[in-house]
Amino acid sequence: MNPGIELKPCPFCGGEAKAILGYPLRLDEYGEEVGDYEPATIWFGARVYCPKCECVIEKKKRCVNGSPKGWHDQIKRDAVEAWNRRANDV
Ligand SMILES: [Zn+2]
Repeated sequence: MNPGIELKPCPFCGGEAKAILGYPLRLDEYGEEVGDYEPATIWFGARVYCPKCECVIEKKKRCVNGSPKGWHDQIKRDAVEAWNRRANDV
């Protein structure tokens, strides 16, 4: 796991959470999936999941020219924070 990112245990089963952060996605401009031969824009996704009960939180963000530096890190933080927030709620 990436250093400096702390994940709370799964809110449902208490299992250890895993993170996949910053992978490219091919989606249309609204963030919907597209087929292999359709035009697509590049998004980046970040996902935190529990391998035990398969609950997932995924965040995605469109890669746009002129995006502020650090947006790539932001998507990671968004996913981790969303996960940790939900872990808090239970
Ligand atoms: Zn779980």
